[in-house]
Amino acid sequence: MPLPMPEKIQKTVQSNLTPGQIIAKHQQSAPINVMAIANDLGLNVWSMNLPGNISGKIFRDALNGGTSGFSIAVNAKESPVRQRFTIAHEIAHFILHRTNLETGDLIDDTMYRSGLSSAEESAANSLAADILMPFPLIQKFITAGMKDVPSLAAAFQVSQVAMKIRLGIPVT
Ligand SMILES: [Zn+2]
Repeated sequence: MPLPMPEKIQKTVQSNLTPGQIIAKHQQSAPINVMAIANDLGLNVWSMNLPGNISGKIFRDALNGGTSGFSIAVNAKESPVRQRFTIAHEIAHFILHRTNLETGDLIDDTMYRSGLSSAEESAANSLAADILMPFPLIQKFITAGMKDVPSLAAAFQVSQVAMKIRLGIPVT
């Protein structure tokens, strides 16, 4: 029996909003509440002791899943910002690659390879970045004077590398 993450114990109620509307609803302030997005999509999220080469998965979970019937699990041994990105990546799979989920669970290794094509993994990473680092909100912070990557990464609770990629700054 996996331990629930603190915010998520009870069953979630699936929203009537579209995925895009659900995401936008939770992008008004930073850090983006990625758990709330998952829950609104009918997904429960669990921080679990996964094997070291696995970052996360999205799987059919009749007993403990959300109203969608699916749960996301993330590797409890990875850093909080990494777990947040993995949750966003699995949410992206749920939105973009739902048909693949009908045939089996998606398990992502630490390179976010789940057996889908690299184009599909890229699309999931791209949507994950869109979820966690919406440009209008980043712009708001920059306009307010927060212009350095460490501060922005901390405000959005993402890795500095993820924020650099988002801002188009070369990662060395
Ligand atoms: Zn993936």
